[in-house]
Amino acid sequence: MQPSQSNTSMINTLKPNSESDFDIGIFQLAVENASDHIIITDDASRILYANPAAEKITGYSQTEMIGQTPALWGKQMEKKFYQKLWQTIKKEKKAYHGTFINQRKSGERYYAQVDIAPIFDKNKKIKYYVGIERDITEQFELDKMKTEFISLASHQLRAPLAIIKWHASALMQSKNKNFDQNQNKYINEIYQGNQRMIELVNALLYVSRIELGKLIIKPKKINLSDIIRTCLDGLEPTIKAKKLKIKKEFSNNLNIKIDPDLMHYIIDNLVSNAVKYTQANGRVRVKVEKNKLKVIISVADNGMGIPKSQQNKIFSKLFRADNVVSKDADGTGLGLYIVKSIVELIGGQISFKSAINKGSEFRVYLPLSK
Ligand code: ADP
Repeated sequence: MQPSQSNTSMINTLKPNSESDFDIGIFQLAVENASDHIIITDDASRILYANPAAEKITGYSQTEMIGQTPALWGKQMEKKFYQKLWQTIKKEKKAYHGTFINQRKSGERYYAQVDIAPIFDKNKKIKYYVGIERDITEQFELDKMKTEFISLASHQLRAPLAIIKWHASALMQSKNKNFDQNQNKYINEIYQGNQRMIELVNALLYVSRIELGKLIIKPKKINLSDIIRTCLDGLEPTIKAKKLKIKKEFSNNLNIKIDPDLMHYIIDNLVSNAVKYTQANGRVRVKVEKNKLKVIISVADNGMGIPKSQQNKIFSKLFRADNVVSKDADGTGLGLYIVKSIVELIGGQISFKSAINKGSEFRVYLPLSK
């Protein structure tokens, strides 16, 4: 590409007279010409400098911004969001990275990816803050449209899949004498394949609800041990076929108030992973500890484990570790992403430890409401 006239003249102005002129000149030019919004504030977050991109993105002129705080275009989110930001940059004196909703001078709201870093004097006291914002509204809207499309498609797929399930199970149960062994096998395969599609569609629906902020939580009084047993019963054919030993370390009386469907999803996912990723004759243990404030659910196995180098990706969407991909083609890599999102929405936490060919343990901590 040929350099444009303006680029060429810019390059000419970059020629240093001395080394220090060069440093200042080049940094100033970079900041002035950056497409990202860049501001510098004092330690009380009063704006000392704003680059032209900040004017373009917020709609405020430099004169309108100088002396004000970023609240001029901010203040659109919950108070606790900004409290966390201040906690990070002022108390912990660390850089902050996050996605904000802001408002332009015109009143239009926009999404911004924001990085704020404290700058210290030689006594390690905060002297300035540098804030860099990237307007990601277009990308955000596009992602939202894709998620809405997935949500719509998944909803539409539910009805035909339910019909296939219904008819396939009717054919399986009728033990139709007219079907030979092969035909019965085909019907069974149709049923199993359809089941996998139902699971995938349900997972996609969960993902779209999470990403659109539409996951509804309806806490109810339930007995957690009933949910665990239902999940284990559903896995019984695989447990039997693999001759797995299941250790249940929980009391029969685990009455808690929580959303039963979400709880079922969490347990079913962790237990079915433990069953799926443990070789024949292996062991799976489900343990629950409960006190007044929280419940801790632990699902452990002595199976394939997760390679150390990939453990940091385990809760990412669509992630499947190398050691399982070749052995099991069925997974979606969505389960743990959904589990973590649900757990955090309920106000809990999830952690795990794992060693390759030794096994894994997932622990879920959930706060208890009255
Ligand atoms: P899926 O099981 O459908 O692939 P998940 O999101 O539930 O998706 O899990 C993501 C990945 O994490 C799995 O593909 C597997 O690599 C790893 N994993 C999860 N649980 C276990 C486990 N108990 N033992 C070994 N690997 C596991």
